[in-house]
Amino acid sequence: MMNVQLLVSSLLEHAEKFFPKKEVISPMPSGIVRHTYAEIGKRTRQLSSALEKIGIQREDRVGTLAWNHNRHLEVYFAAPGMGAVLHTINIRLSPEHIVYIINHAEDKVLFIDEDILPLVELIKDHLKSVEAFVIMTDKEELPETTLEPVYSYEKLLQTGDEAYQFVKDIDENAPAGMCYTSATTGNPKGVVYSHRGIVLHSYALGLADTVGVSENDRVMPIVPMFHANAWGLPFAATWFGSTQVMPGPRFTPKILAQLIEEEKVTKTGGVPTICLALLKEWEEGNYDTSSLNAILCGGSAAPRGMIQTFEQKYNISFLHAYGMTETSPLATFSRLKSYQMDLSQEDKLDERAKQGILVPGLEFKVIDGQGEVEWDGKSMGELLIKGPWIADEYYKDERTKEAFQDGWLHTGDVVTIDEEGVIKILDRTKDLIKSGGEWISSVDLENALMAHEAVFEASVVAVPHAEWQERPVACVVLKDSYKDNVTKEDLLSFITPMFAKWWLPDDVVFMEEIPKTSVGKFLKRALREKLKDHFAAESL
Ligand code: AMP
Repeated sequence: MMNVQLLVSSLLEHAEKFFPKKEVISPMPSGIVRHTYAEIGKRTRQLSSALEKIGIQREDRVGTLAWNHNRHLEVYFAAPGMGAVLHTINIRLSPEHIVYIINHAEDKVLFIDEDILPLVELIKDHLKSVEAFVIMTDKEELPETTLEPVYSYEKLLQTGDEAYQFVKDIDENAPAGMCYTSATTGNPKGVVYSHRGIVLHSYALGLADTVGVSENDRVMPIVPMFHANAWGLPFAATWFGSTQVMPGPRFTPKILAQLIEEEKVTKTGGVPTICLALLKEWEEGNYDTSSLNAILCGGSAAPRGMIQTFEQKYNISFLHAYGMTETSPLATFSRLKSYQMDLSQEDKLDERAKQGILVPGLEFKVIDGQGEVEWDGKSMGELLIKGPWIADEYYKDERTKEAFQDGWLHTGDVVTIDEEGVIKILDRTKDLIKSGGEWISSVDLENALMAHEAVFEASVVAVPHAEWQERPVACVVLKDSYKDNVTKEDLLSFITPMFAKWWLPDDVVFMEEIPKTSVGKFLKRALREKLKDHFAAESL
């Protein structure tokens, strides 16, 4: 067979050729903007050409601090299209971490959304490699700023050539993108995506047994474009010619619900917290959700009750997937097999709440101290993955040694695997609760609590305990209408039949809000810190 290099630019070229009329829709401060792929193609070519003109060279890092919209999509293709590297920066991280990331990646230019300008002005004196700033504003004139040299996105585009030819003499293994992922301690860790990895991962998103992104979809990636490339959805949706509905800057659940209704979104995707917020908005408002046929959810375990509500109440397929920034991210996908259709509704939900089987193209194993664990659904071990869209190191980082060994990515996720090859995540290695020498899965307890009708969110963490070493404590946010009439005894008696007695949380602490990470996951570190002295304080 021909040895053709798999390059990111070919995804956009395909859309330009075969889907020039299909649209990318972005709600921007100045109103909804619509661009066809023909226009996106021209604008992207102009941008690649303009980047060359301002001195960006191959393999230079092009940083973005931006929400999901068409301009961000254009940088997604323009940077790798001229041989540079797209570096998406998580705008929700602390300023210190953002400075670290930009300096560590040695970004040459930063593309910034207008509302993020104050943050960049605040940190600008600490940036060591940045030679230019581009503000992605809708306005003709640049806003007043202390950044320098600074360009307005639209004016910069005008300096570029719309007939620019994307560079083709690059190795498919060359870097096309990068993204930093938060570590439990220390600075974030950089993951570099190759052209080849992005192209193959995009194929994976099109498979009928995964997300099945297709031309007739209207895809709305809620997951930010600065988090694992919005799960690769913008790349795949462009390649397959799907209409893309971007949520735009600073979206709210209301904006999402309106976009779904008005732009007839067929597929969307976000972390469980966002899915819950969307359900809450639907419950409180009066929206037409009939266009939406599937919601992709991952990043944290999807509570069973939420799967049930989407599917049974709204008739929307719930696509539960697992992955990490290091895995591009799609790694496993939860779907029932054809011969499991006669399972009871309850058993089906239990299966769907698991993280599923490996996506074709990848390899995995689950190991404990002794070697590979049995496929019995009980033995626990750490999940290891390898494959063409799995990172093989952290960018210039000592922590590579710990996570990448013998050609495998050590995910740090503790799982069981059953006879069907289905994995079930019990915890992050660091979040498991060890009580009296035995392991308790916080995820199982959270899911059980979240199945109670009064519970909006629940997170279970280990709290130090004099006798048992650690004990689970549940932190619960109740739905507004239940705040005065549900007690911790109600919740505990609800989950008692589901677990061995020693698994039950020693306490339930009601909160107004559970602290979250920059990507919407429960921030267990902060909760543990908050509850550290819980038992000591109680006994006073
Ligand atoms: P990130 O790199 O920020 O996307 O985080 C990756 C981590 O999120 C994984 O290592 C898992 O611990 C967790 N995760 C991702 N998807 C799921 C899922 N479907 N269920 C449970 N945990 C998940």
